[in-house]
Amino acid sequence: MARRGLFRWKIAGYVARIASGIVDPGEFDSGVLARHVVEAIRSVGMQLRDERNGVLVCPLCGKGPFTRRGYFLHLTRLHYSHLIDLVEVEADRIAGVARNVVS
Ligand SMILES: [Zn+2]
Repeated sequence: MARRGLFRWKIAGYVARIASGIVDPGEFDSGVLARHVVEAIRSVGMQLRDERNGVLVCPLCGKGPFTRRGYFLHLTRLHYSHLIDLVEVEADRIAGVARNVVS
């Protein structure tokens, strides 16, 4: 369970890094996470990247503007469990699509 908790923490951090532009989604990869989870993290991170005229606004609560670092901290502090929920839903969706293609 502790290990799963660690993964959840990492997932939220990855999403927040992509959403805030600290990490480019194309550069993000992980040797530990399953393929569909990596895809889900990229997808959710991009959905949460709302950059207007160089400033970041949080699409989940409308707050901002943030710097990259400020938005990263905002997401991990205020929306931690929401980030993980979004990734889990997206990962299930991607895995479901993949299964449908195979069968
Ligand atoms: Zn917010």
